[in-house]
Amino acid sequence: MLTIESMQAFIEAYAARLEELCAVLDDLDNRIGDGDHGTNMARGFRTAADRTASGTFQDLGALCQTVAMALLSSVGGASGPLYATAFMRFAQSWNVCTHVDYAKLATGVAAALEGLRARGKAEVGEKTMIDVWTPAADAIAAHPDETGLREAVSRATNAALATRDIAATKGRAAYLGARSVGTCDPGSISSAMFFEELADAIA
Ligand code: ADP
Ligand code: MG
Ligand code: MG
Repeated sequence: MLTIESMQAFIEAYAARLEELCAVLDDLDNRIGDGDHGTNMARGFRTAADRTASGTFQDLGALCQTVAMALLSSVGGASGPLYATAFMRFAQSWNVCTHVDYAKLATGVAAALEGLRARGKAEVGEKTMIDVWTPAADAIAAHPDETGLREAVSRATNAALATRDIAATKGRAAYLGARSVGTCDPGSISSAMFFEELADAIA
């Protein structure tokens, strides 16, 4: 069950994790992009965590809307509008909900994936965060329970590591084409961490 308190705890834990692994994500992005993915994500989620910790929220919709706005206002890179879109879709899915069960979690993650696809126009196999969100959303939808969420984390991690062998066709890494093979997609790694922290916050 996701509550306002566990959502606030999730945003804080994810921000802390991003701060801890900022250099690793920047390094991955440095190899196949412009070297700022860790910095972008840490700044964005720190802003979001600070705003959500200090605010009072009537429901998860309002909380997720605040996260989306914080990301939009603090992240310049591609990842800011993408993660903001995910949180905007969470906000629509969980409007007026103070509690989100596994079934509603599955609906929210499916809506977020749809939003990411609409915004980024990427398909699975193009070496973007879509490669991670897709199997994660599928796993939760197939089993909307604790086991399904654990399966989503495991599939997300495997998919993020598997982006190493893909030649990018979307995002900044697409400029490198075949030379992007051999490095994991940074946005896929941050997305796998997202599902890991989310599952820990719900447990
Ligand atoms: P920027 O590329 O603007 O510097 P970031 O480095 O913060 O932004 O984020 C890069 C990540 O965004 C990539 O690793 C990839 O996962 C994701 N990404 C980039 N373009 C797209 C897209 N069109 N659709 C989905 N995800 C994308
Ligand atoms: Mg970048
Ligand atoms: Mg950039």
